[in-house]
Amino acid sequence: MEKSINVSVVIPLYNEEGNVVELYRELKGVLNREKISHEILLINDGSSDRTTQLISELHSQDPCVTVINFRRNFGQTAAMSAGFDYARGDVIVTMDGDLQNDPADIPVLLAKIAEGNDVVTGWRFARKDPFISRKFPSMIANKIISFITGVHLHDYGCTLKAFKKEITQHIKLYGEMHRFIPAIASGMGACIAEVKVNHRARKYGASKYGISRTVRVILDLVTVKFLLSYSNRPLHVFGLIGMISSSLGFFLLMLLGFQRQCYGIPMGDRPMLMMAVLLIFIGVQFVTIGLISEIQVRTYHESQSKPIYYVKNILREE
Ligand code: UDP
Ligand code: MG
Repeated sequence: MEKSINVSVVIPLYNEEGNVVELYRELKGVLNREKISHEILLINDGSSDRTTQLISELHSQDPCVTVINFRRNFGQTAAMSAGFDYARGDVIVTMDGDLQNDPADIPVLLAKIAEGNDVVTGWRFARKDPFISRKFPSMIANKIISFITGVHLHDYGCTLKAFKKEITQHIKLYGEMHRFIPAIASGMGACIAEVKVNHRARKYGASKYGISRTVRVILDLVTVKFLLSYSNRPLHVFGLIGMISSSLGFFLLMLLGFQRQCYGIPMGDRPMLMMAVLLIFIGVQFVTIGLISEIQVRTYHESQSKPIYYVKNILREE
């Protein structure tokens, strides 16, 4: 029998040759000191520096280290998703591979999981990153995400998080969506907690992102919000917009007809006529998009046997 693994630590790595060995040492120190049975999954996201070689050495020295080498760079979200797929532990801890997260915080996260939370996320309350390119956009993004998703956290971007395995099994990630896992998990009914964690400046290597990430995050937010609120009932959004638009168009048309009949105002050359017709057309199209989405949604849920609900537990006589 294989020994059971309590914790799987998932670390995405993209050209982190300066950090990976020191990170491994620090992490191993913490896990051993706390006597946590563990595995460490190093996901090599197509690094072109010595990362590949260094982590295969770590693997040959320590059987707890699993290395997953991607064929090319697929991005941090894909790397984390691979970590979830291959992890065997009951709890999955994710962290950055650039030493910005502190492994010493892991026991705190695990304690929160033990208290009964399904997801625990780190809050980098003293973040050591540049203000203009990082902290400021992130501050705004955090406010918007908090408002739109209704899951109120201070810091969505922190990679240092812990999840129960049941949660990660149900979550499929696309785009830049790893930062929305708490929101998606909360949509499933998970208990979420936030703890303050240490954050350190990057010592070796450079950040892989620029300011353009903010735009992608906001676009992903639209997707997440839509999936969370309407993925079971798209006609409720599209149909509503369509009905409002058509009704408005119909009302305008009635007004034009009334003015034509009662006051003899010709309507053929009035811009409002164009507006009215356009509104009716747009309305019909929205409703049609809604109906097509309803069909899509059925394919989406049924082809992957994706439930529209998540069961916590069942009490039943056998
Ligand atoms: N990373 C990755 N694939 C990428 C970009 C980044 O696996 O395409 C990893 C990177 O090696 C690091 C983590 O994701 O471990 C966070 O990246 P980074 O430090 O550049 O982001 P920042 O801290 O600046 O937000
Ligand atoms: Mg970093």
